Amino acid sequence: MSLAASVVIVGAGPAGLLLGNILADHGVDCLILERHTREHIERRPRAGLIEHWAVRELTELGLADRLLAEGARHDSCEFRFLGRRNVSRYGDLAGGRAHYVYPQQELVKDMVAAYLKKGGQLRFSAPAVTIDGFHDRPRVTFEEAGVTRTARGEVVAGCDGFHGAARASVPPDAVTRYEHQHRDGWLAVLAAAPPSTEQIIYALHPDGFAGHMLRSPTVSRYYLQCPAGDASENWSDDRIWSELRRRLATSDDWTLRDGPILDKGVLDMRSWVGEPMRFGNLCLAGDAAHILTPAGAKGMNLALGDARELALGLLDRFHRGDDRRLLAYSETRLEAVWRAQEFSNWLLDLLHGTGDDAQPRPFADRLRRQAIGQITGGGARARAFAESYVG
Ligand SMILES: Cc1cc2nc3c(=O)[nH]c(=O)nc-3n(C[C@H](O)[C@H](O)[C@H](O)COP(=O)(O)OP(=O)(O)OC[C@H]3O[C@@H](n4cnc5c(N)ncnc54)[C@H](O)[C@@H]3O)c2cc1C
Repeated sequence: MSLAASVVIVGAGPAGLLLGNILADHGVDCLILERHTREHIERRPRAGLIEHWAVRELTELGLADRLLAEGARHDSCEFRFLGRRNVSRYGDLAGGRAHYVYPQQELVKDMVAAYLKKGGQLRFSAPAVTIDGFHDRPRVTFEEAGVTRTARGEVVAGCDGFHGAARASVPPDAVTRYEHQHRDGWLAVLAAAPPSTEQIIYALHPDGFAGHMLRSPTVSRYYLQCPAGDASENWSDDRIWSELRRRLATSDDWTLRDGPILDKGVLDMRSWVGEPMRFGNLCLAGDAAHILTPAGAKGMNLALGDARELALGLLDRFHRGDDRRLLAYSETRLEAVWRAQEFSNWLLDLLHGTGDDAQPRPFADRLRRQAIGQITGGGARARAFAESYVG
């Protein structure tokens, strides 16, 4: 038997769950189809830095109780270069705005619980295979317990990430792709180690970038720039900690606390945008529509921003018969997407020092030193950095 809902949402990540929660709050019936089990998505560690506007939005929606109680407020970050610490007090520069550090899987957990409590339909272990009929009443074909089923919606929201079915269902000639494959990769490491810092550290080192990100009092994330295509098996635990120690070293007595490594993998450093983000009654949101590198921590925040805008467009359609906001969805969000891409790519170039490969390293490093001085100072460039970073 075919299922039906006003909105079928494919994917229970940050984008799909925020969309489902807002629609459920306003009495729009929706069905979320998720490929994995509930346990899997509630344990999958990924992002952790939530922008100021998103925290405010989640608070207003009643989705931030645990985030505010257990997450940590952050309003400064550190750039290390040649052993010196340079601190950006971006919160003060951006009028008191701040990030919250709260692991993505915890936010997913909170949003799943809230959505189910509202009576929302969510089917786990139900991967979408294909979506068709976008220009009329779209149909999602999905698998459940070995059976092929269909679900029809007036609108389908493709929130199933970069490798999902929604993006793949769009005919190639209907989308213009903008893509950049970055030269180097990042080894992403998650360790059961308490943070060795109170603020995120971006360390610029001649042998490559190293990052120390925050997740919780007992777990930290680290990044190490590495050759593209490198394999995580090449990185033993000893090599990871000694490389982090070397690249994060300061000229004072700062030390790095280590711990058991929980997870490691080399990230595909790709920037990708597909235009448009709406194809009739199929709308793409989050990583299904765009991919950023982790530099600047914009991916999850953009996914939440897409979901919010899409929800407001759908509410206008279903409650007021007004399609204008939904029709403008793609144009509205692409402006935000490209703003984030520009910031993320600029920051990555600064961290890697690869703005122009023809520059001799000493020259490029003098430019980097100048840039860091400006963004950690108090002038116009520091304020512009703060605004872009905190969101
Ligand atoms: C290691 C790492 C670190 C990161 N750090 C940050 C950070 O610090 N800050 C930040 O903002 N971003 C970060 N990101 C990016 C961020 O995690 C993503 O941008 C974010 O998850 C996008 O949310 P989404 O809802 O669009 O997609 P996803 O979170 O990928 O959710 C998509 C959902 O769809 C499901 N799905 C997939 N295919 C199907 C299908 N066919 N049918 C049904 N369901 C399907 C998936 O199981 C998943 O639950 C990081 C990513 C990684 C990998």
